[in-house]
Amino acid sequence: MSDSTIRVQNLSVIYNQGKQNEVRSLQEADFTIYPGEYVIFFGPSGCGKSTLLYSVASLQSPTIGDVSVGEKSISMMTKKEKYAYRRMGVGMVFQAFYLISSMNVLDNVCLPRVFLNEDKRVRREAGRQLLRRFGIEGQADKYPGQLSGGQKQRVAIARALVNNPEFILADEPVGNLDSESAQTVLGILKELNERDKKTIILVTHDPNHLAYGDRIFHMKDGRVLREEIRKDKRPPEAVRANEESEESDHTQYMVLSLKSLFISI
Ligand code: ADP
Ligand code: MG
Repeated sequence: MSDSTIRVQNLSVIYNQGKQNEVRSLQEADFTIYPGEYVIFFGPSGCGKSTLLYSVASLQSPTIGDVSVGEKSISMMTKKEKYAYRRMGVGMVFQAFYLISSMNVLDNVCLPRVFLNEDKRVRREAGRQLLRRFGIEGQADKYPGQLSGGQKQRVAIARALVNNPEFILADEPVGNLDSESAQTVLGILKELNERDKKTIILVTHDPNHLAYGDRIFHMKDGRVLREEIRKDKRPPEAVRANEESEESDHTQYMVLSLKSLFISI
Protein backbone atom coordinates (compact mmCIF):
# COMPACT_ATOMS: atom_id res chain seq x y z
CA MET A 1 0.00 0.00 0.00
CA SER A 2 1.29 3.42 -0.88
CA ASP A 3 2.08 5.94 1.84
CA SER A 4 -0.96 8.00 1.05
CA THR A 5 -3.70 5.39 0.78
CA ILE A 6 -6.61 6.17 3.10
CA ARG A 7 -8.23 3.10 4.55
CA VAL A 8 -11.46 3.38 6.51
CA GLN A 9 -12.41 0.14 8.23
CA ASN A 10 -15.74 -0.61 9.88
CA LEU A 11 -15.98 2.99 11.06
CA SER A 12 -18.86 4.07 13.28
CA VAL A 13 -19.24 7.41 15.03
CA ILE A 14 -21.92 7.42 17.72
CA TYR A 15 -22.71 10.45 19.85
CA ASN A 16 -24.11 10.08 23.39
CA GLN A 17 -23.77 6.32 23.13
CA GLY A 18 -26.22 4.37 25.27
CA LYS A 19 -28.16 7.49 26.22
CA GLN A 20 -31.62 8.49 25.13
CA ASN A 21 -30.25 11.11 22.78
CA GLU A 22 -27.86 8.68 21.06
CA VAL A 23 -27.08 9.62 17.43
CA ARG A 24 -25.46 7.20 15.04
CA SER A 25 -23.79 9.70 12.72
CA LEU A 26 -21.84 7.10 10.84
CA GLN A 27 -22.29 3.35 10.71
CA GLU A 28 -19.87 0.67 9.53
CA ALA A 29 -18.21 2.71 6.80
CA ASP A 30 -15.66 0.62 4.95
CA PHE A 31 -13.67 1.87 1.96
CA THR A 32 -10.22 2.66 0.62
CA ILE A 33 -9.19 5.81 -1.21
CA TYR A 34 -6.10 5.56 -3.40
CA PRO A 35 -3.58 8.30 -4.18
CA GLY A 36 -4.70 10.59 -7.00
CA GLU A 37 -8.40 9.71 -6.84
CA TYR A 38 -11.21 12.24 -6.84
CA VAL A 39 -13.83 10.77 -4.54
CA ILE A 40 -17.24 12.24 -3.74
CA PHE A 41 -19.44 11.45 -0.75
CA PHE A 42 -22.98 12.27 -1.78
CA GLY A 43 -26.16 12.30 0.26
CA PRO A 44 -28.80 14.45 1.94
CA SER A 45 -28.19 16.74 4.89
CA GLY A 46 -27.55 14.81 8.11
CA CYS A 47 -26.44 11.56 6.45
CA GLY A 48 -22.96 11.71 8.02
CA LYS A 49 -20.84 13.28 5.28
CA SER A 50 -19.08 15.84 7.47
CA THR A 51 -18.54 13.27 10.21
CA LEU A 52 -16.83 11.04 7.66
CA LEU A 53 -14.64 13.85 6.36
CA TYR A 54 -13.60 14.95 9.85
CA SER A 55 -12.77 11.35 10.70
CA VAL A 56 -10.40 11.19 7.73
CA ALA A 57 -8.92 14.53 8.81
CA SER A 58 -8.31 13.08 12.32
CA LEU A 59 -10.58 15.75 13.82
CA GLN A 60 -13.17 13.15 14.84
CA SER A 61 -12.29 9.96 16.74
CA PRO A 62 -14.00 6.69 15.85
CA THR A 63 -16.42 5.11 18.31
CA ILE A 64 -15.76 1.80 16.56
CA GLY A 65 -13.39 0.95 13.72
CA ASP A 66 -10.34 2.61 12.30
CA VAL A 67 -8.98 5.16 9.85
CA SER A 68 -5.44 4.72 8.60
CA VAL A 69 -3.22 6.69 6.27
CA GLY A 70 -0.55 4.60 4.61
CA GLU A 71 0.56 2.09 7.19
CA LYS A 72 -0.38 4.30 10.11
CA SER A 73 -3.64 4.15 12.01
CA ILE A 74 -4.70 7.65 13.09
CA SER A 75 -5.62 6.33 16.53
CA MET A 76 -2.03 5.11 16.96
CA MET A 77 -0.55 8.51 16.08
CA THR A 78 1.04 10.55 18.86
CA LYS A 79 -0.32 14.07 19.41
CA LYS A 80 2.66 15.44 17.51
CA GLU A 81 2.09 13.09 14.56
CA LYS A 82 -1.59 14.04 14.47
CA TYR A 83 -0.81 17.76 14.37
CA ALA A 84 1.73 17.17 11.61
CA TYR A 85 -0.80 15.15 9.63
CA ARG A 86 -3.47 17.85 10.01
CA ARG A 87 -1.10 20.62 9.08
CA MET A 88 0.99 18.98 6.35
CA GLY A 89 -1.04 16.01 5.15
CA VAL A 90 -4.49 17.46 4.62
CA GLY A 91 -5.86 20.74 3.33
CA MET A 92 -9.43 21.50 4.31
CA VAL A 93 -11.99 23.67 2.55
CA PHE A 94 -15.34 24.46 4.17
CA GLN A 95 -18.66 25.84 3.03
CA ALA A 96 -18.26 28.81 5.43
CA PHE A 97 -14.65 29.57 4.29
CA TYR A 98 -13.38 30.18 7.86
CA LEU A 99 -11.02 32.98 6.93
CA ILE A 100 -9.70 35.21 9.73
CA SER A 101 -11.40 38.55 9.21
CA SER A 102 -8.74 40.62 10.97
CA MET A 103 -5.94 39.31 8.74
CA ASN A 104 -5.38 40.25 5.12
CA VAL A 105 -5.70 37.73 2.31
CA LEU A 106 -1.99 36.92 1.99
CA ASP A 107 -1.61 36.43 5.75
CA ASN A 108 -4.66 34.16 5.76
CA VAL A 109 -3.10 32.00 3.04
CA CYS A 110 0.26 31.86 4.82
CA LEU A 111 -1.17 31.13 8.27
CA PRO A 112 -0.64 27.33 8.20
CA ARG A 113 3.08 27.99 7.60
CA VAL A 114 3.61 30.59 10.31
CA PHE A 115 4.94 28.06 12.80
CA LEU A 116 7.38 26.49 10.38
CA ASN A 117 10.96 27.48 10.88
CA GLU A 118 11.49 29.30 7.61
CA ASP A 119 12.22 32.73 6.20
CA LYS A 120 9.09 34.87 6.10
CA ARG A 121 9.86 35.80 2.48
CA VAL A 122 9.75 32.14 1.40
CA ARG A 123 6.34 31.74 3.01
CA ARG A 124 4.96 34.92 1.49
CA GLU A 125 6.25 34.00 -1.96
CA ALA A 126 4.54 30.60 -1.72
CA GLY A 127 1.31 32.36 -0.74
CA ARG A 128 1.59 34.91 -3.55
CA GLN A 129 2.22 32.16 -6.10
CA LEU A 130 -1.02 30.44 -5.11
CA LEU A 131 -2.99 33.70 -5.23
CA ARG A 132 -1.54 34.33 -8.70
CA ARG A 133 -2.52 30.85 -9.81
CA PHE A 134 -6.12 31.39 -8.73
CA GLY A 135 -6.33 34.86 -10.27
CA ILE A 136 -6.61 36.80 -7.01
CA GLU A 137 -3.09 38.19 -6.50
CA GLY A 138 -4.58 41.68 -6.76
CA GLN A 139 -6.56 40.98 -3.57
CA ALA A 140 -3.49 40.05 -1.47
CA ASP A 141 -3.65 43.13 0.79
CA LYS A 142 -7.42 43.20 1.14
CA TYR A 143 -9.38 41.76 4.06
CA PRO A 144 -11.85 38.87 3.70
CA GLY A 145 -14.81 41.20 4.24
CA GLN A 146 -13.89 43.02 1.03
CA LEU A 147 -14.08 39.88 -1.14
CA SER A 148 -16.88 38.09 -2.96
CA GLY A 149 -17.82 34.56 -1.89
CA GLY A 150 -16.03 33.03 -4.86
CA GLN A 151 -12.86 34.99 -4.07
CA LYS A 152 -13.06 33.97 -0.41
CA GLN A 153 -13.25 30.33 -1.36
CA ARG A 154 -10.25 30.69 -3.70
CA VAL A 155 -8.32 32.22 -0.77
CA ALA A 156 -9.40 29.26 1.40
CA ILE A 157 -8.20 26.82 -1.26
CA ALA A 158 -4.86 28.64 -1.47
CA ARG A 159 -4.57 28.33 2.32
CA ALA A 160 -5.39 24.62 2.12
CA LEU A 161 -2.57 24.20 -0.41
CA VAL A 162 0.15 26.31 1.14
CA ASN A 163 1.78 23.33 2.88
CA ASN A 164 1.42 21.22 -0.26
CA PRO A 165 -0.67 18.43 1.33
CA GLU A 166 -1.50 15.20 -0.46
CA PHE A 167 -5.21 15.34 0.34
CA ILE A 168 -7.72 18.11 -0.18
CA LEU A 169 -10.87 17.56 1.86
CA ALA A 170 -13.73 19.82 0.80
CA ASP A 171 -16.97 19.98 2.81
CA GLU A 172 -19.76 21.45 0.63
CA PRO A 173 -17.23 23.98 -0.71
CA VAL A 174 -19.65 25.67 -3.11
CA GLY A 175 -22.73 25.55 -0.87
CA ASN A 176 -22.58 29.33 -0.32
CA LEU A 177 -21.65 30.36 -3.86
CA ASP A 178 -23.52 31.55 -6.92
CA SER A 179 -23.43 29.11 -9.83
CA GLU A 180 -20.63 30.87 -11.73
CA SER A 181 -18.32 31.01 -8.70
CA ALA A 182 -19.28 27.42 -7.94
CA GLN A 183 -18.10 26.32 -11.38
CA THR A 184 -14.81 28.18 -10.88
CA VAL A 185 -14.19 26.53 -7.51
CA LEU A 186 -15.15 23.05 -8.76
CA GLY A 187 -12.91 23.64 -11.79
CA ILE A 188 -9.99 24.46 -9.47
CA LEU A 189 -10.53 21.27 -7.45
CA LYS A 190 -10.65 19.22 -10.65
CA GLU A 191 -7.42 20.81 -11.86
CA LEU A 192 -5.73 20.13 -8.53
CA ASN A 193 -6.62 16.50 -9.03
CA GLU A 194 -5.69 16.18 -12.70
CA ARG A 195 -2.66 18.45 -12.89
CA ASP A 196 -1.26 18.40 -9.38
CA LYS A 197 -2.30 14.78 -8.71
CA LYS A 198 -3.84 15.68 -5.35
CA THR A 199 -6.26 13.23 -3.84
CA ILE A 200 -9.59 15.05 -3.58
CA ILE A 201 -12.41 14.11 -1.23
CA LEU A 202 -15.49 16.22 -1.88
CA VAL A 203 -18.65 16.12 0.21
CA THR A 204 -21.86 17.35 -1.39
CA HIS A 205 -25.63 17.01 -1.42
CA ASP A 206 -25.88 18.41 -4.97
CA PRO A 207 -26.25 15.81 -7.74
CA ASN A 208 -24.93 18.34 -10.28
CA HIS A 209 -21.46 17.96 -8.77
CA LEU A 210 -21.19 14.22 -9.28
CA ALA A 211 -19.74 14.52 -12.79
CA TYR A 212 -16.49 15.84 -11.29
CA GLY A 213 -15.71 12.67 -9.35
CA ASP A 214 -13.94 9.42 -10.27
CA ARG A 215 -15.77 7.45 -7.61
CA ILE A 216 -19.01 8.38 -5.89
CA PHE A 217 -20.08 6.96 -2.55
CA HIS A 218 -23.84 7.33 -2.07
CA MET A 219 -24.79 7.85 1.58
CA LYS A 220 -28.00 7.73 3.58
CA ASP A 221 -28.77 7.66 7.31
CA GLY A 222 -25.11 7.36 8.34
CA ARG A 223 -24.34 4.57 5.91
CA VAL A 224 -22.45 4.29 2.65
CA LEU A 225 -25.03 2.47 0.58
CA ARG A 226 -23.31 2.04 -2.74
CA GLU A 227 -20.26 2.95 -4.76
CA GLU A 228 -20.39 4.24 -8.31
CA ILE A 229 -17.23 4.11 -10.40
CA ARG A 230 -16.96 6.64 -13.21
CA LYS A 231 -13.24 6.52 -13.84
CA ASP A 232 -11.27 3.75 -12.22
CA LYS A 233 -7.95 5.17 -11.02
CA ARG A 234 -7.41 2.48 -8.42
CA PRO A 235 -4.23 0.41 -8.80
CA PRO A 236 -4.92 -2.83 -10.73
CA GLU A 237 -4.10 -5.06 -7.74
CA ALA A 238 -6.71 -3.21 -5.65
CA VAL A 239 -9.36 -3.67 -8.33
CA ARG A 240 -8.51 -7.39 -8.57
CA ALA A 241 -8.60 -7.85 -4.79
CA ASN A 242 -11.99 -6.15 -4.69
CA GLU A 243 -13.37 -8.35 -7.47
CA GLU A 244 -12.09 -11.46 -5.71
CA SER A 245 -13.68 -10.47 -2.42
CA GLU A 246 -16.95 -9.79 -4.20
CA GLU A 247 -16.65 -13.18 -5.83
CA SER A 248 -16.00 -14.88 -2.52
CA ASP A 249 -19.01 -13.05 -1.01
CA HIS A 250 -21.01 -14.38 -3.89
CA THR A 251 -19.67 -17.90 -3.41
CA GLN A 252 -20.42 -17.74 0.31
CA TYR A 253 -23.91 -16.61 -0.48
CA MET A 254 -24.35 -19.52 -2.90
CA VAL A 255 -23.08 -22.01 -0.30
CA LEU A 256 -25.43 -20.56 2.30
CA SER A 257 -28.40 -20.71 -0.06
CA LEU A 258 -27.54 -24.31 -1.01
CA LYS A 259 -27.26 -25.24 2.67
CA SER A 260 -30.61 -23.74 3.47
CA LEU A 261 -32.04 -25.54 0.47
CA PHE A 262 -30.73 -28.93 1.70
CA ILE A 263 -31.88 -28.23 5.21
CA SER A 264 -35.35 -27.41 4.01
CA ILE A 265 -35.33 -30.63 1.99
P1 ADP B 1 -23.99 15.86 6.97
O1 ADP B 1 -22.64 16.49 6.87
O2 ADP B 1 -24.24 14.78 5.95
O3 ADP B 1 -25.09 16.88 6.93
P2 ADP B 1 -23.21 15.27 9.69
O4 ADP B 1 -22.03 14.39 9.59
O5 ADP B 1 -22.95 16.72 9.99
O6 ADP B 1 -24.11 15.12 8.37
O7 ADP B 1 -24.18 14.74 10.84
C1 ADP B 1 -24.67 13.41 10.85
C2 ADP B 1 -25.60 13.25 12.04
O8 ADP B 1 -24.89 13.38 13.25
C3 ADP B 1 -26.71 14.30 12.11
O9 ADP B 1 -27.87 13.67 12.57
C4 ADP B 1 -26.19 15.29 13.10
O10 ADP B 1 -27.25 15.98 13.74
C5 ADP B 1 -25.42 14.40 14.06
N1 ADP B 1 -24.32 15.08 14.76
C6 ADP B 1 -23.26 15.68 14.17
N2 ADP B 1 -22.42 16.19 15.11
C7 ADP B 1 -22.98 15.91 16.32
C8 ADP B 1 -22.62 16.16 17.69
N3 ADP B 1 -21.49 16.81 18.00
N4 ADP B 1 -23.45 15.71 18.65
C9 ADP B 1 -24.59 15.03 18.35
N5 ADP B 1 -24.99 14.76 17.09
C10 ADP B 1 -24.21 15.19 16.08
MG1 MG C 1 -22.12 18.49 6.61
